[in-house]
Amino acid sequence: MTEIIQAVRGMNDILPSETYEWQYVEHIMRQLYQSHGYQEIRFPIVEKTELFKRSIGEVTDIVEKEMYTFLDRNEESLSLRPEGTACCVRATLEHGLLHNQIQRLWYAGPYFRHERPQKGRYRQFHQCAAEVFGLAGPDIDAEVILLSAAIFEKLGLSNNVTLQINSLGTFAARQQYREHLVAYFTNHKADLDEDSLRRLDKNPLRILDSKNPAMRQVIENAPKLLDHLDEESLAHFATLQSYLKQAGLRFEVNPCLVRGLDYYSRTVFEWVTDKLGAQGTVCSGGRYDGLVEQLGGKPTPALGFAFGMERLILLLQQVQPTSIANSQLHVYLMTDSDTSFAIGLKLANYLRSQVSGLNILLHCGGGSLKNQFKKADKSGAEYAIIIGEEEAKTGLVSLKNLRKEMPQQTLDEDKLAEYLKLHVSKKG
Ligand code: ATP
Ligand code: MG
Repeated sequence: MTEIIQAVRGMNDILPSETYEWQYVEHIMRQLYQSHGYQEIRFPIVEKTELFKRSIGEVTDIVEKEMYTFLDRNEESLSLRPEGTACCVRATLEHGLLHNQIQRLWYAGPYFRHERPQKGRYRQFHQCAAEVFGLAGPDIDAEVILLSAAIFEKLGLSNNVTLQINSLGTFAARQQYREHLVAYFTNHKADLDEDSLRRLDKNPLRILDSKNPAMRQVIENAPKLLDHLDEESLAHFATLQSYLKQAGLRFEVNPCLVRGLDYYSRTVFEWVTDKLGAQGTVCSGGRYDGLVEQLGGKPTPALGFAFGMERLILLLQQVQPTSIANSQLHVYLMTDSDTSFAIGLKLANYLRSQVSGLNILLHCGGGSLKNQFKKADKSGAEYAIIIGEEEAKTGLVSLKNLRKEMPQQTLDEDKLAEYLKLHVSKKG
């Protein structure tokens, strides 16, 4: 026998039994983005490697060791996108969308990082993200954070996540703080792990982002960036907090929150949960006022966030495992002969055209009605429509409720359409 080829490690199939949940979450997110005036943008999965090097930063986990980089047939270095912000900036710049304009955008899709696969951490994963360009004030920071909060709220997850915020200040303030930090960590070299020692010279702020529990103590006692912020950033941060409080949104200030990418400035935030072990960050975001210029555009304030979809769905499954109906079918249509199948084929389309949103599965492949009833039951459909010998002669069909004890009805096609219009529930 020929060997079966398996998927690449850390790259998952999403099976039919799971896609319903994905569609549900994606649907809710799309609705919320639209209701906040955000427009969808789509861009390629592959970009020039240079884009990520220049934006994410050379001394980051992503660029140092996580990117899928390859030479294409023209010997050009390309990479599978490890994140979306750089792509979004590239696309908006390339098409002139940032020229004296405010843009509220959202996008969703797969991303690729060569990490050690574990629960909530994969080599292909999905993000659903929003970005705003052209606004510098704390007002939009508040709006963006409230949008991310609305997503958790609508999914019934608000009680399972905590919002953490911090400010990284301006580039100048960070440079000054960097000196204090390097001095502190140099004094505590013995407590640093290998990664952190390496970062001490190149990118000491990233030490604060370490996931190593052994590093927690030395990080907690480190000087705080918040104590070295410039006046304007402090005022920005204070106003943001006041907006969030007035909106009734609970949050924690986490002075160690720095985020893994180089391009952030001022506001950063994460939504974390204690329900997913070490992979507790479900959504992360922040302001990146320098990035557009870094990628060749005019200075443009910008900010955004990204939800890790696998983590969001894992959390949803954990918190409310049965809340999402997993069948999209209303009707299972069965027939018992060639003649009745031909009628069924037409009837199914007639009903779909008459009853908006109606989902009908037409049984194919023959077999006894008894067998078809078993399949209908398993399909999760609410109703069975039966076209047997008798029905084929009279032009009437039978309708049976598969989920409730109710007498079977015999109806003509118009009465049937009327009945279904009134009785079927709306599905995704
Ligand atoms: P982490 O600290 O968990 O490594 P990150 O800071 O690298 O996350 P971002 O680059 O900010 O993550 O990506 C945004 C979101 O995407 C994260 O908050 C997380 O939910 C999700 N995410 C990131 N990397 C992965 C991955 N390898 N597998 C699954 N989800 C991921
Ligand atoms: Mg990471």
